[in-house]
Amino acid sequence: MKQFSDLGLAETVLKAVEAEGYTNPTPIQAQVIPAMLDGRDILGTAQTGTGKTASFVLPLLHKLANGRERPPQKCCGTLILAPTRELAAQIADSVRTYGQFGHTKVAVVVGGVKPGPQIKAMARGVDILVATPGRLMDHMQGGAIRLDHTSTVILDEADQMLDLGFMPAIRKIMSKVPKERQTALLSATMPPPIRKLANDFLTDPAEAEVAPTARPIEKIDQQVMLVDRSAKRRTLIDILSKDDVDRAIVFTRTKRGADKVQRTLSDAGLSAAAIHGNKSQNQRTKTLDGFKSGTVTILVATDIAARGIDVDNVSHVVNFELPNIPESYVHRIGRTARAGKTGIAISLCDGGEREFLRDIEKLVGYSIKSTGNGGANDLPEKQGGRGSNRQPRNNAPKKARPGNRPARNNRSKSKSSGQVQGSGNGQGQKRSEGRASSEGDGDGLARMLGTKPGGNRPSNRGRPGGGSRGRNRNKNAGSRQAQSA
Ligand code: AMP
Repeated sequence: MKQFSDLGLAETVLKAVEAEGYTNPTPIQAQVIPAMLDGRDILGTAQTGTGKTASFVLPLLHKLANGRERPPQKCCGTLILAPTRELAAQIADSVRTYGQFGHTKVAVVVGGVKPGPQIKAMARGVDILVATPGRLMDHMQGGAIRLDHTSTVILDEADQMLDLGFMPAIRKIMSKVPKERQTALLSATMPPPIRKLANDFLTDPAEAEVAPTARPIEKIDQQVMLVDRSAKRRTLIDILSKDDVDRAIVFTRTKRGADKVQRTLSDAGLSAAAIHGNKSQNQRTKTLDGFKSGTVTILVATDIAARGIDVDNVSHVVNFELPNIPESYVHRIGRTARAGKTGIAISLCDGGEREFLRDIEKLVGYSIKSTGNGGANDLPEKQGGRGSNRQPRNNAPKKARPGNRPARNNRSKSKSSGQVQGSGNGQGQKRSEGRASSEGDGDGLARMLGTKPGGNRPSNRGRPGGGSRGRNRNKNAGSRQAQSA
């Protein structure tokens, strides 16, 4: 097996790799790093968890270590485009971590925060700019950044950017970068529009591909507790008070519900914080940081807010309310059993939610083991139980955004925060940015279920990591989720 030292990386980069405790390059790194060092364009099929970030960040840092002039004012040498704020922040964290023995200047440009600090961070020129497309366009239009000195572009999680409707923005951005450049496109899947993007913007790329990692759903101990609606709070407190709960995410269907559950848990003496679309980006970042660092052990979240959260060691996911969209169930429980770990997913199902449970079991292809026999007296939600503020089933919004599908994973291995996150000026892209940040979910449903698109049954195909190729690109599901947050 190849060692990092065989790859010809600069000393400062090797030192950082060593400090991180990595001994060998991962398969994607073994393929991408030498090709990037050779100056080749890259078309990489790799998902989160494969080490793909380092596969492009290390060669970038190598080039910088070998002496490249800092770009002029309001310019960036390398542009990394990512679908979500969280992913952009994580990539920048990786740049800082792997670049700790060099002098790389990195800035992050994402929506949902003030634009001023971002403008300032770019004013003198940066080596590496990590950006989400919407906010970058704002800054380009406002004259805060130019791309005419950009010589390297990385498009990370391209299929998720497609899912989030960023293709037109990406094309516009790419049209401003000089043709003479190195471009790497990484994507968990290669649907035709991504192939087309690659054909249009890459030149004779080196293709790299790695098998996806394990299907999380198979590592999750799924349980349903049939309870009375009125008993849910007590039951939740009981579950979360047990010793085996290291870190838990509790899902509610509504923002108000999330706040209420958080108060209930806090009143019971548990360490809980809520995260949902009514919280400011700063609050969300703070809450998430607290959850990652362990100062908060229970995160109460709506579906949308939870997308993009990839925190290691989430021992439990609890569905305080079952989602009325079955796909959301799979996304929710995929928050646990990350990074090769196992996890427990407990769903509290009252009498009014039995229909949701049936839909979920139909989607995953088996019945989930259940305990208890409560709920007999609960009204079905559609008869006006507590469900009055939920989305009626099959009531997809009329104007679904193009490409509004359940998106894939981004993850969070962030080691520190503190990116040069600035502010948001232009209004033009605000909407898409906001959505992007909250919708960037991650693991494709089909991968988690081990199905091909349209398939229903978890597959037992042998390869660790199973079938990831296709995803269940259900437009309505995405839109409905967007509404339910
Ligand atoms: P990524 O796919 O970029 O999200 O990386 C997944 C995780 O793998 C991150 O936590 C990295 O720190 C870690 N990682 C990256 N490269 C290596 C390596 N060569 N050896 C061990 N861990 C790695």
